[in-house]
Amino acid sequence: MTANLLDYDLEGLALYCDQLGEKRYRAIQLFRWIHQKGIAHFDDMTDLAKSLRDKLAVSAHVKSLEVISQHISSDGTIKWLFNVGAGNAIETVFIPESDRGTLCVSSQAGCAVGCRFCSTGHQGFSRNLKMGEIVGQLWFAEHFLRNHLHRNDRVISNVVMMGMGEPLQNYDELVPALRVMLDDHGYGLSRRRVTVSTSGVVPMMDRLALDCPVALAVSLHAPSDDLRSNLVPLNRKYPIAELMESCSRYLVHAPRDFITFEYCMLDGVNDQVQHAKQLVSLVQKHASDGVWCKFNLIPFNPFSASGLLRSSAEQVQVFAGILTDAGIVTTVRKTRGDDIDAACGQLAGDVKDRTGVAGRMARQRTMMLKPVSSFNHVTKES
Ligand code: SF4
Repeated sequence: MTANLLDYDLEGLALYCDQLGEKRYRAIQLFRWIHQKGIAHFDDMTDLAKSLRDKLAVSAHVKSLEVISQHISSDGTIKWLFNVGAGNAIETVFIPESDRGTLCVSSQAGCAVGCRFCSTGHQGFSRNLKMGEIVGQLWFAEHFLRNHLHRNDRVISNVVMMGMGEPLQNYDELVPALRVMLDDHGYGLSRRRVTVSTSGVVPMMDRLALDCPVALAVSLHAPSDDLRSNLVPLNRKYPIAELMESCSRYLVHAPRDFITFEYCMLDGVNDQVQHAKQLVSLVQKHASDGVWCKFNLIPFNPFSASGLLRSSAEQVQVFAGILTDAGIVTTVRKTRGDDIDAACGQLAGDVKDRTGVAGRMARQRTMMLKPVSSFNHVTKES
């Protein structure tokens, strides 16, 4: 079996080249062709020696994931559904804004955490993605967008590990994937522009702080342990006090001086005035420990199995006002791509429910392909 070179960070590729009798600088050239130029065919890597290209042709390949479908929203958001085998699919989403292009990347097929408000959580866990499958989402999206927009410069300026899965439960594949994103010979993204979102796997937050401190977002969703354990079952293992302490430790190494707390607004569940006041107390209590934070209030995308409803816009504004009045920077996330689908995980769950067989996915999904050049929101790197 030949090696897929998307499965290697630069150090791994240097080792691979060494085994072929090639110097490190050849690995750097190869890495740049793959990640900076998006080239998959070794014959097109014109400054590589012919002898190396011949060796690679028989021992390696560069292959991203198979696209099942591509959905393009009227607001420019794109969702790709990728086949990861055995009836499983993952989602990747590109979100263009005026000052950035953000790619939301998946880390697992399904998820074991089982948050109540999450469609992916309701599907259960299938498997961890390999490093090449994580990086492959960025590789595909970046070079797809460049080709179709006729651009040579970078289109994706930010990556958020907020797609399907709990990234910190796939740590060993996540960290080398992050290194490729950050590597100047790869995508050259700044640590501030790569965000790992976690439901609060405390020991792995501590490891990430030392191994690869990128920006951190924590899915909080509740101000008290009782409520959070009900919404995010992992809270029973790592309760809020431990989570806050880990956030404090992370800030020592973080590229930003704040942690983002994600808070999904659920009608009548966690969106009341008392909840906002409890959050203010929680943040103030830990402020002395150096926890600086921002809140991102997320409108819930309802799906039938959840039994939950989206908070009204008025309730969200009241809630945001209480946090803001207490001096906590709070944003309300805009919903994007509403016309192509709802919550993260729903496309993939839909495929699994309806087919159960990867080979039939492409035939059974409705394709909604439009020319990408019709975007009007795709942005330049800021
Ligand atoms: S919100 Fe994240 S951690 Fe929770 S079930 Fe969904 S994918 Fe898993």
